[in-house]
Amino acid sequence: MVKHVESLGLKANVIQGSERTVIAAVGEERVDGVSTLESGPGVDEVLPILAPYKLASRELKADTSIVTAGSLSVGGVQIGMIAGPCSVETEEQIVACAKAVKKAGATALRGGAFKPRTSPYSFQGLKEEGLRMLATAREETGLAVVTEVIAPDDVELVGKYADVLQIGARNMQNYRLLEACGKSHRAVLLKRGPSATIDELLLAAEYILDGGNPKVLLCERGIRTFESHTRFTLPLATVPYLQSKTHLPVVVDPSHGTGHTNLVTAMAKAGIAAGADGLIVEVHPDPAHAKSDGYQTLDFKAFEKLMAECRRIAEAVDRTL
Ligand code: PEP
Ligand code: MN
Repeated sequence: MVKHVESLGLKANVIQGSERTVIAAVGEERVDGVSTLESGPGVDEVLPILAPYKLASRELKADTSIVTAGSLSVGGVQIGMIAGPCSVETEEQIVACAKAVKKAGATALRGGAFKPRTSPYSFQGLKEEGLRMLATAREETGLAVVTEVIAPDDVELVGKYADVLQIGARNMQNYRLLEACGKSHRAVLLKRGPSATIDELLLAAEYILDGGNPKVLLCERGIRTFESHTRFTLPLATVPYLQSKTHLPVVVDPSHGTGHTNLVTAMAKAGIAAGADGLIVEVHPDPAHAKSDGYQTLDFKAFEKLMAECRRIAEAVDRTL
């Protein structure tokens, strides 16, 4: 059937389920000969996928995908907890952070080595040196590493050190970057652009899936509105909405979503209550002296408290943390 699909000029994407196998025939909508698929061997039915995104659509795959990368698993009963500093600053800082967040129950370590900054004069990250520090922190703790990649040419380098490639909000529609991550065998955390619609987010994810990489996590990290009491506005209805439209797991970022340390824990809890499959939270040994995003970062003690409070919410919605 794959050959048959390909002979029509369509791409065949095979999704093995527990009860049935789906062959997603992706390409131009109006091709001749689609009806000839119906009589093929083993074919139960041929259905059009109505959503503009095909591979990301729940119409294609009813079960939520579980994305696994080292110690991190997102999409199952257990909520994935990614925690760590905005930026990797020193080996001591990232290793201390990894140990503290692991002890509190985090399942992955975050930390930016390549930083996309609004101002060219702001700290740009330690680049490969930072990636090496992240690898050391992984060796010391066993935590999977989530770190940002900002350019297509860096995907190979970042992929050598990272377990999960983070595509930042500013790069959500960098199509060459999406394509490069589609070719990687690393999982990808795709953050929503601050002015992107949910359909645009899903179509950005579609680029990665279409490139052959099925391991995609979507992240709601807040959007830009007229409101200024928070850095961004964190729309949590995104979580159940996305879950109705896609099988990809959904992660919430209450740090960038609020921009204020004192609002992070409440919105982390709200994210879990809304059904998030994972959270990504900024944690630093000394937020007041962090090189980036200190104003929205938790110290170790506050993160422990967040974990304890989130566990109770998780239990209430039949999840574990
Ligand atoms: C970050 O995670 O530190 C970051 C830069 O996030 P975003 O791309 O969502 O702004
Ligand atoms: Mn940050």
